[in-house]
Amino acid sequence: METRTITVIRGDGIGPSIVDAATAVLDAAGCGFHYEYVEGGLAALEHTGELLPATTLEAIERNRVVLKGPLTTPIGQGFSSINVSLRQHFQLYANVRPVLSFPGTKARYEDIDIITVRENTEGMYSGQGQVVSDDDMVAEALSVISRGGAERILRFAFELARREGRRKVTVVHKANILKSTSGLFLRVAREVAAQYPEIEMIEMIVDNACMQLVMRPEQFDVIVTTNLFGDILSDLCAGLVGGLGMAPGANIGADCAIFEAVHGSAPDIADKNIANPTSVILASCQLLDYLEEGAIAGRIRAALRTVIAAGKHTTTDLGGTASTTEFTDAVIEAL
Ligand code: NAD
Repeated sequence: METRTITVIRGDGIGPSIVDAATAVLDAAGCGFHYEYVEGGLAALEHTGELLPATTLEAIERNRVVLKGPLTTPIGQGFSSINVSLRQHFQLYANVRPVLSFPGTKARYEDIDIITVRENTEGMYSGQGQVVSDDDMVAEALSVISRGGAERILRFAFELARREGRRKVTVVHKANILKSTSGLFLRVAREVAAQYPEIEMIEMIVDNACMQLVMRPEQFDVIVTTNLFGDILSDLCAGLVGGLGMAPGANIGADCAIFEAVHGSAPDIADKNIANPTSVILASCQLLDYLEEGAIAGRIRAALRTVIAAGKHTTTDLGGTASTTEFTDAVIEAL
């Protein structure tokens, strides 16, 4: 495998500990990556006065593949979300969030294998038209769905389903109420689905989708939806397989991709060495798949499976007592 440089943003809160765990596992698996470390979020704000310094953007531009820890967005006016900015800046339009059952997690279900494909640049997160009246009585934000934006994410989801031999794509929407935005998304979905006759397309209203995911998750295979619905549904899906510590996500554009956990910086457990690094380790497996190094990704997933099933070295969120470092060492041992 040629030496590839990966941009790494260790992130805030639990970020550094779980990103370091992931790079240790990648190294032990023999990936031979070179890492270019750059700052973002609170660490960058402290050192440079900016949440997203130009040097960070330049490093991403150069290497095109990023492993990223969660970044805290300070609450308050003047701070727009760094995560949303990164996704829009690099046009990372597809947010791919797989959840997979791992025996030993004590999750309610055992056979979950669902990929949520979330539109990552438009919808309620377009950032357009954000206004609060001077007297703080009325707030507005614009939800934007474009035909082009809808088509590229829907095509991405159906292509992913075809590539991975998946049989069903559920399009989640709210076209009964949000007639303009969700309505356009659904119309484009029908047009795109018609080009993939071997894949079944199901249309589901978002509130029903939440209930169905909790009651009968086995009916889902690939879910494709707009930005806000995808954000919420993918956390729900994480809950089906043992929580946020188990949920990775890839942000993919035409020629650049950022791999990270679904969860945030978890300030409540920061600096305690107890976070579950599985989310970022699984995100690095997505990174390997993206670089067509699926065999190494498979070995890492198998090692995670072994350690979690054995139960001796799992972190507290999975019912164990191991620290982040003990869990990581066990995964490396199992490779
Ligand atoms: P969170 O996702 O950080 O945490 C939610 C809960 O899940 C907490 O109880 C936390 O302890 C637990 N949890 C999360 N990851 C875990 C792990 N790996 N192991 C064990 N337990 C874990 O949500 P929050 O507290 O609402 O957000 C904190 C900050 O993160 C906010 O500033 C938010 O903007 C930011 N955030 C960033 C990203 C990102 O960088 N992609 C995503 C979501 C939130």
